Amino acid sequence: MVNYTKYLRCTECQKAGLYCTKHRVEVEMSLKKRAIMKVLQMRDDDHQSPRYRHVIKGLLESYNMWNTSL
Ligand SMILES: [Zn+2]
Repeated sequence: MVNYTKYLRCTECQKAGLYCTKHRVEVEMSLKKRAIMKVLQMRDDDHQSPRYRHVIKGLLESYNMWNTSL
C-alpha cells in the first residue's frame, strides 16, 4: 500500500492541492502496478470472459491517459 502521510507532509503537494509532479508520478505508478497485478492474478479460464476483456480495456485506456498527461 501507498504511504500517503508523506504526501500530506510534502509542502509541494500542499501547494498543488493534491500531489506535486514528482509524487503524482509515484502515485500513478503504484496504481498501475496494482491494476497489472489484478490482471496477472486472473485464472486462465477467465481470459475469454467479458470481465477480463473489460479489465484489459480499462488498463489500456489508463495507459493512454497517463502517457498523454505526463
Ligand atoms: Zn509532493
